[in-house]
This record gives sequence, structure tokens and C-alpha cells, in this order.
Amino acid sequence: MTAVHNVIIIGSGPAGYTAGLYTARGMLEPLMFAGYASGGQLMLTSDIENFPGYPEGIAGPEMMAELRQQAERFGLTVEDKNVEKVDFSSRPFKVTVEGEEHLAKAIIITTGADAIWLNAEGEREQKGKGVSTCATCDGFFFRDQEVIVVGGGDSAMEEAHFLTRFASKVTVVHRREYFRASQTMYDRVANHPKIEIVLHRQVKRWLSDESGLSGAILEDPRDGSEHEISCTGAFIAIGHTPNTPFLEGQVKTDESGYIIHSEHTMTSVPGIFAAGDVVDTRYRQAITAAGMGCQAAMDAEKWLEEN
Ligand code: NAP
Repeated sequence: MTAVHNVIIIGSGPAGYTAGLYTARGMLEPLMFAGYASGGQLMLTSDIENFPGYPEGIAGPEMMAELRQQAERFGLTVEDKNVEKVDFSSRPFKVTVEGEEHLAKAIIITTGADAIWLNAEGEREQKGKGVSTCATCDGFFFRDQEVIVVGGGDSAMEEAHFLTRFASKVTVVHRREYFRASQTMYDRVANHPKIEIVLHRQVKRWLSDESGLSGAILEDPRDGSEHEISCTGAFIAIGHTPNTPFLEGQVKTDESGYIIHSEHTMTSVPGIFAAGDVVDTRYRQAITAAGMGCQAAMDAEKWLEEN
């Protein structure tokens, strides 16, 4: 007979490992499917300076390895495999991994969201060096430097405004004339003395020299003409995609695919919990994800006790 686990955690990252740590210390013997590329978005981050407890900062992959080790020390079992599908229509819940079915009384989903990248030429080499998708995480590294922000939505406006605290100049690069951003957020950016807005430009190629990113070749989508811009930092803010396609129809999500909580960290299905960027369109920080992972673990523990 297939064993029924108390808790299966789907997805790694700060939310998943923290949920793993708490449920393991709660003697629930949790099983985690961490994904083939375990660790989440922080595996692409070079330095993390805003996670409390690391006075000298820490590299993303190193922090993820430590979070994992800490949870494993208390009994979290981690399998670096992807979940293909789930069935939450009856209990115990079913999770299919490499064709094999696993059963659990409760599930915690921490599959995160991926920032959308431009995939312009040279981007892979500059990821986590000069090109970033998180101003809150990396803005500080660009003090007194010229940076660009790509995008025309609220995220781009927010990132551009935030970056004026550090950068000497911020240029918003948008591919057309109209902005999706709200008028208030747009006005705040348009009226800022440190910000310039460049319209009808799409990043075609990132430029670099021996010290890192040095600029970009921008293309005008209307006529294909090319224009060079100098910058040592670039922030892509063109949206995020939550990693929820494997959940289709199983729990309630919003129109963009983010999971909706119905009560605390519980989803629309009692016994299924979610934490981290897979539910969060606002904060998207390692520390907030870790905090929510702890909440989900405590909610799952309480729910199991009561049910
Ligand atoms: P968004 O509203 O979908 O905007 C994405 C922007 O990126 C658009 O301007 C889009 O251009 C551009 N874009 C998309 N793909 C591109 C590509 N390949 N190359 C160049 N540009 C590209 O996304 P978001 O700004 O992340 O916001 C997501 C949601 O969160 C929104 O509902 C937003 O209101 C909300 N949000 C709210 C706040 C706040 O209230 N404080 C802050 C951040 C986000 P086009 O317009 O040309 O398609």
C-alpha cells in the first residue's frame, strides 16, 4: 500500500525550505519535491544583502544550500524532481512525480513565480551581474551610477522611482508611447528630476566591458533604427509568471495564475496551503516568502491536528 505522508511541500525556495524546517521540527516528516532546478529565483542572484542575519551578505545559491541543509537536519526529505500533476478532488491528496503517485494529508505549495526576462542578446552573461529583475534586491549596488529600467507598467514605475535613491540617473525604456502604469505612478516618475523616459525603444543587445555591463543597443520597433545607451545597471520590469500551470483547475487562482488564499495561508481547498511568490504580487522578497512559509507550516500543522 502507498504510504500517506503528513505533508508534501511542492517547490523549494525560501518559502518551501522554511515550511520544510517548521514541519520537520513539528515531527511531521515532510517530503519536498524541490523541482529539477531546486532553489528558485535566488539561484540566479549573486549577492543577497537584505536577508537579516548575514551582515556581510551571502550569495543566493549559498543561502539556498544553507536553508536546505538546516531543514534536512530536522528530517525534511528533499527530492529534486518536478511535480507533473496533482489531484486535490479527494483525500488523501495525490501528487504525481515522474509518473508515480504520492499521497499526502496536507500540501504546501511554494512553487514561486519567475520574473519575465527580455532574452536580448548577451542577457544570460549579464544576469545577476549588471542586469537584474529586482531593484529592491540589487538597487543598492548601483549607487551614483546610471541605470535603465525596462517596462511601462506599475512595476517599472515603482522600480524606477525606488532606484532614484541610489542611481545618479534612471532612464525608463519603454517599447511604445502608452503606459499601462496607473496615472499616479506614471506622474511620479515623469516628474522626477533624476528620471528620463525614452519611448519606442526595445533592448536588442546588452553591451559589456571588462568591469561589467556598459550599456545597451536599443531598437526602435517602428523603423528598426538602432540607438546606443550607456548604463552600468539595468532592471527588467516587464512582469512575472507564477509557477502554477500544473495546478490548473485544482485551486482558485486570479486571472494571472497567482493562488488566492481563502483563509490565512489556506487555498480554496481545505488542507492545501500556499506561500511565497506563488501568491504574492506585492512584496516578492526572500524574507517575506520565508515568513509566509513559516505561516503555511503552522497553519498546516494546526489543520492536521484538527482534522
Ligand atoms: P504589467 O502591468 O503587465 O506591465 C508590463 C510592462 O512590460 C508593459 O508596459 C509591457 O509593455 C512591458 N513589456 C512586456 N513584455 C515586454 C517585452 N518583451 N519587451 C519590452 N516591454 C515589455 O506588469 P507589472 O508592471 O509587473 O504589473 C503587474 C501587476 O501588478 C499590475 O496589475 C500592476 O498594477 C500591479 N502592480 C502594482 C503596484 C502598485 O500598485 N504599487 C506595483 C507593481 C505592480 P506593453 O504595454 O507595450 O505591453
